[in-house]
Amino acid sequence: MPLDLVILGAPGAGKGTQAKKIVAETGVAHIGTGDILRSAIAEQTPLGEEVQGVYDRGALVSDELMTHLMRARLALEDAAAGAVLDGFPRTCAQAERLDAVLAELDRRLAVAIDVHIRDEVAIERMLARASAEGRRDDVPEIMRRRLDVYHRETEPLIGYYRGRGILEVVDGDRPQEEVFADIRRALPYGNGRPS
Ligand code: AMP
Repeated sequence: MPLDLVILGAPGAGKGTQAKKIVAETGVAHIGTGDILRSAIAEQTPLGEEVQGVYDRGALVSDELMTHLMRARLALEDAAAGAVLDGFPRTCAQAERLDAVLAELDRRLAVAIDVHIRDEVAIERMLARASAEGRRDDVPEIMRRRLDVYHRETEPLIGYYRGRGILEVVDGDRPQEEVFADIRRALPYGNGRPS
């Protein structure tokens, strides 16, 4: 049975870092929508040209485009055993469409992990990442906007998944390994490995 899971959290929560650890542990594919968009922008593909303005403003790319991307990505061979979705869904509409896309593949989400951090920590982490990685949207006014977008558009998904009974909340303001230890316990396999 494929293992599909979602990681939620404010920008800077460490979703990408934790997603990589989950991949190392379980062997599922890592689908980071921000990474996909950043490569498209860097390579100046038609997708990159379409999303660049929205990305640079710290706004959200349309639900239609993101769902289309996700449907195509989940159908690739490397995601046949499941995927960690890092950065998708980001709106309730995307969450509903994700359910439909997974249902088309005869799959359903196993767990949604909310990596929780305070806004001050989110800003500190984005500032640190800006000097380490130079991400083009890690600039102070855009960071604030991305955080606002997170609270307004994405945070409601916590209630959505809680209502479905698949939400796990972990405290993200701790060293990476401690955060991952909690995530590992939240994986449906218990010890993190398929039996
Ligand atoms: P991230 O790397 O996940 O923080 O995403 C960086 C940026 O990519 C966001 O600020 C959005 O502009 C865009 N983006 C990534 N994932 C999505 C999504 N699921 N829906 C809309 N926009 C997205």
